Amino acid sequence: MAGIYVFSEDARLTAELVTTAAAITGEVHVVCLGADAASALTTTGATSVVVLEAPGTPRTEAYVAALADLVRDRGADLLLVGATVTGWEVAARVAALLDSALVSEASIVTALPDGMWQAERVMYAGGAVQTETWSGPGVVTVAPGRAVAASVPGSTSPVEVVAVDVDSRVRVVSRTARVRAGVDLASAARVVCLGMGLGDSGDLAVVQDLADALDAEVACTRPVAEDRALLPTERYIGISGAHVHPDLYVGLAVSGQVQHTVGFRDAKVVVGINTNPAAPLFAVCDYAVVGDARELAPLLAAAVRARR
Ligand SMILES: Cc1cc2nc3c(=O)[nH]c(=O)nc-3n(C[C@H](O)[C@H](O)[C@H](O)COP(=O)(O)OP(=O)(O)OC[C@H]3O[C@@H](n4cnc5c(N)ncnc54)[C@H](O)[C@@H]3O)c2cc1C
Repeated sequence: MAGIYVFSEDARLTAELVTTAAAITGEVHVVCLGADAASALTTTGATSVVVLEAPGTPRTEAYVAALADLVRDRGADLLLVGATVTGWEVAARVAALLDSALVSEASIVTALPDGMWQAERVMYAGGAVQTETWSGPGVVTVAPGRAVAASVPGSTSPVEVVAVDVDSRVRVVSRTARVRAGVDLASAARVVCLGMGLGDSGDLAVVQDLADALDAEVACTRPVAEDRALLPTERYIGISGAHVHPDLYVGLAVSGQVQHTVGFRDAKVVVGINTNPAAPLFAVCDYAVVGDARELAPLLAAAVRARR
């Protein structure tokens, strides 16, 4: 194997891609597009880091032709790309330039004999798994949260800087950093999730108190973030939100639509509190509690504190 190359403009997602690639091969190369991206890279545990550098070109998209050349010239077996808005564009354009297979949102990637590859992709909000196979090199996007980020504290990989020419017709005039909530739901061990049944701002204190007692992160369903704006959008779980892998998920007044539950399908223990005994959430619960979450959440918090 010539190795798997991975790219994401997001340092954490890059580390997850390294984990995915390292499960397939011992030759994992991280590609950074521009010196800024390379400086943001944290620990990788990769075989090497290749920095494609065109001075004064901070736009990721401008590097796609150089990235395609690198993948072709080095005979890469595969290019894994983080599935973000930028990653989707990079992956599609690189695959078009390489005239190679493009597989989107893979959850599992496997090397088959004779240069064949296979990827699994969750479809219909978790209702089906699609398997795709292809021959030769390909470009595969992998969604955030599919793998644990490679973490090799203090490790350094050999860095190779490759000067490239880019054909950019766009000039960056100024940049404004996006303000993020800084929450890391993907690695939270415990999550307390707020649903629309507790969708008043006063209910946040109830949810936060239970989260504090459990040492958990507060999360929510999409409408709580997008319709009510009670919590930042980074905190909603689901098909279009965060994918979490906690030991414990507690859903308070969450109905349990599949677009939401697919986001915590890897949770070890699921607890639901809902006034409706027929709530779909109960179908995926280990512990289903029928009742008013406004009353039961404080009792649960007190019980947890008493046990501690
Ligand atoms: C394309 C698409 C993508 C989507 N992506 C996502 C996504 O990524 N994440 C996501 O979350 N949603 C997503 N949705 C929306 C999803 O389909 C549901 O509408 C949403 O998850 C429902 O949120 P909810 O459970 O908070 O609200 P509701 O469905 O309104 O449920 C509220 C629940 O609270 C219960 N309840 C009311 N009062 C109380 C009380 N006092 N105590 C206890 N229980 C109470 C009710 O019985 C009810 O079950 C998506 C939808 C579409 C179409």
